[in-house]
Amino acid sequence: MKTRNWKRFFVAAAVTALAAMSLSACGGSSSGLDAIKERGVVKVGVKADVPKFSLQNTATGEYEGFEDDLAYAIAGKILGISAEEAKAQKKVEFQAVNAKTRGPLVENGEVDYVIATFTITPERKETYNFSPAYYTDAVGILVNNDSGIETIEDLDGKIIGVAQSSTSKQEFENYKAENGIQAEPTFQEFATYPELAQALAAKQIDAFSVDRAILEGYKNDSNKFLDVRYGEQEYGVCSNKENTELSELINTTVQEMLDDGSMTALMEQNGLTVE
Ligand code: GLU
Repeated sequence: MKTRNWKRFFVAAAVTALAAMSLSACGGSSSGLDAIKERGVVKVGVKADVPKFSLQNTATGEYEGFEDDLAYAIAGKILGISAEEAKAQKKVEFQAVNAKTRGPLVENGEVDYVIATFTITPERKETYNFSPAYYTDAVGILVNNDSGIETIEDLDGKIIGVAQSSTSKQEFENYKAENGIQAEPTFQEFATYPELAQALAAKQIDAFSVDRAILEGYKNDSNKFLDVRYGEQEYGVCSNKENTELSELINTTVQEMLDDGSMTALMEQNGLTVE
């Protein structure tokens, strides 16, 4: 190769390397801490249909509950302001998610994090970052008062409604296997909890099963909890594993709030009893 060609080769190589570097920098920071600060608004995925945890107020459009307050606390940490300021200045842009959509929204960067009764499981931890657990729950089963269903065994041949992509069906199977219970119900999946509640009221399903915290919001005079508690699980704030800076800030903030009692205070403010 002549000297001139060498020169050209080096220039081309340098340009390619620089382009690659700036591309990866963009990719890495597009939903990283600096990018969020620059944007000035934090995007958070929350439930819209879980009373006390996160419920969208139909009159105002606002999201209200423990998980929304936690979203403000973390957003405040990111932006260097208090949780109250984050709320008053509308620094959080909420997006309603369900059990099926929440993971993909974190993966594709449409939201910065998700706080949505998201159970930490070993499988999910392979894909996402989860903060330390901020709430512990167990699975429950809601049935109509006039259904004649009193025990898990009574669910034999019945239809249990569960949410898509939830842990509920697996936890039922685990409980059955561990306790040698003889019952073969079928499972029907629904996208949202209001749909499940409606299906139970209309007797399209015989039972509605999900985390007890979620079920509490759908308890009324014509239905009741079966007297079982199984499938203990913990909720964590979920973020993209690749956004290490953001994930670390979330994990530290949650841990600090657990340690200084402010997590408990947030729960109590939202009418959640702390066990
Ligand atoms: N918490 C359970 C889960 O993560 C139930 C589904 C839900 O959160 O909506 O699978």
